[in-house]
Amino acid sequence: MNIISSSCGNDSVALIQWAKENELNNVVVTYIDTGWAAPSWQERVDRVKRWVESIGFDFVTISSMGMEKLVDIKKAFPSNRYQFCTAHLKGIPFLNWIDEYDKDFNSKVLIGKRRAESRARAETPEYIENSEYHGGRTVWHPLYLHSDKQRDELLEKAGFEILPHRSQECSPCVNANKADFLLLEPEQIKRVSDAEVKLGKPMFRPKKFNAVGIHGVITWAKYWKRKMRLEPGEIEIGTGCDGHYGCGL
Ligand code: SF4
Repeated sequence: MNIISSSCGNDSVALIQWAKENELNNVVVTYIDTGWAAPSWQERVDRVKRWVESIGFDFVTISSMGMEKLVDIKKAFPSNRYQFCTAHLKGIPFLNWIDEYDKDFNSKVLIGKRRAESRARAETPEYIENSEYHGGRTVWHPLYLHSDKQRDELLEKAGFEILPHRSQECSPCVNANKADFLLLEPEQIKRVSDAEVKLGKPMFRPKKFNAVGIHGVITWAKYWKRKMRLEPGEIEIGTGCDGHYGCGL
């Protein structure tokens, strides 16, 4: 089986299109419900699911405990230094699912990571044998040498527009940057603010953002947008996460 670990963002959709063009068999596309997606993101997930099923692949949504429960249990927000969210919201739910689904360890896990995405991913190999993050299975990055242009061509053939931001499956991410903060919907801002009040701590480090609490962080991001005279499409787009579980792809 070929299991695509997807977040329904640009690189995930490009990878699904690549799998279709290369006639891979027994393809299952997975998506993890982190309980922290942007409210409008579900529409995108539903669209990807419909397309995936229309081309003969399966689509599975995997549940997780959700960010709010995780913060309650840990009595802390994850951070880019203590990124326990990837294990609890992505890794463990995925492993629990795949260990049930693929008891014989016959599957490969496909992830849409590309070297061209960022410096952090510049050494992405085509294969990782015995991946400790995937229960010892082989991880395959078929797009590891794809340029942005090649990725965009795959998206066009799939009939999907290019999103000017990373996947919103888990947002705001602990690695969010100015551009990501400016995309937050009112419901997301309230969700973060409520969690900050409940925990008595801000989600984002005050020293890094020169602001305490999500409302202050958004004011800081807006200030920088004005100062740099950036238009939405020109704002830096973050990649942030390490990518073992395809965060943001
Ligand atoms: S998207 Fe960000 S916040 Fe969510 S699990 Fe990945 S690293 Fe953590």
